[in-house]
Amino acid sequence: MKHFTEEEKIKILSDIIAIKSINENEIEVANYLKKLFDQYGIESKIIPVTDTRVNLVAEIGTGSPVIGVSGHMDVVSPGDESEWTSDPFTLTERDGKLYGRGTNDMKAGLVNLALVMIELKENKELKNGTVRFIATTGEEVGGAGSQKLYEEGYMDDVDYLWVAEPSHDALVYCHKGSLNLRITSIGEAAHSSMPEQGYNAINPLMKYLLEMDDKLNGDNRKNEVLDKLIINTTIINAGNQVNSIPEKAVAEINVRTIPEFDNEEVIDLFNKTADKYNEEGSDIDVEVTMSLPSVFTTGSSKMINLAKELGKKYLDLEPSVIGSPGVTDASNLLRGKDDNFPFMAFGPGETKMAHKTDEYVYKDYYFAFFDIYKELILGLSK
Ligand SMILES: [Zn+2]
Repeated sequence: MKHFTEEEKIKILSDIIAIKSINENEIEVANYLKKLFDQYGIESKIIPVTDTRVNLVAEIGTGSPVIGVSGHMDVVSPGDESEWTSDPFTLTERDGKLYGRGTNDMKAGLVNLALVMIELKENKELKNGTVRFIATTGEEVGGAGSQKLYEEGYMDDVDYLWVAEPSHDALVYCHKGSLNLRITSIGEAAHSSMPEQGYNAINPLMKYLLEMDDKLNGDNRKNEVLDKLIINTTIINAGNQVNSIPEKAVAEINVRTIPEFDNEEVIDLFNKTADKYNEEGSDIDVEVTMSLPSVFTTGSSKMINLAKELGKKYLDLEPSVIGSPGVTDASNLLRGKDDNFPFMAFGPGETKMAHKTDEYVYKDYYFAFFDIYKELILGLSK
């Protein structure tokens, strides 16, 4: 019988926190987990995404149902490390909290999933069905890893998906999409005393941005759970000298989409509006730099019901069932699935703690989620 002790659970989490998988270098996390799985005879596969980035997929059991459990291996930058009370890459316990970059988002969830797989296999507890462990790369920077897994068919036969993103008090069953656009306006440089000799790239871009802002913000479509779409122009770069007519202006925009006003429709609107400006003499180009669709499921599933019960049992709270404005790998992993697909994000940690200085996860919740995940799998696989 394998029974991970609390010391072992902390040791493995601290090893993984020590791996600086900051928007890259997930391969070291993948290698660590692969080695761990190997020790217990669990087959796992490293799946290259780019020259330097990989996913890891491991599986136990056979047949249906196929339960997909997922977490990303990357973390965001710790920012100014001197602002941290303790080293961000050394797991440090203070007052019942485990501090370190990625403790909350989302290595505590990821490690739990891996350790549960090992116990289920070692103790022959899984009598029925398959558990597919899906560790992704690059979630924080566009979801290239989850896109690859979707394309390669790793989700085709999956019956349930939960992502162990930090959200201990709420089951997230739908979320907005995220779309990044880069708008480039090309003009012609000239001396600012003779603007007629050139073409100011900033002017049409400003009008265009405001027009798009009005169009999207003025749209009344609303999702019953996710509410309205959100648009923000977040970066502008233009010009290089105060007395020169700028020849180039570039803006970047982030849109948080809803099923009723989706990425395709937004992209189409940006393109059509650019065409209108270009017919009037501007030179505006629209480039889509990231496009993750929204995820909408009904939220009524055996998985959500069971997770709610287990939340009560192990966390001593009643998790709410909610929609979220943030994206997860489910944007890619659930491409092509319908509204009835059982999906949730549920994991140790708090959404508001993600990406913060002095990031932490409560030690009790880290341990509690191990039990929740194990019972959840056993309940679903019955
Ligand atoms: Zn995350």
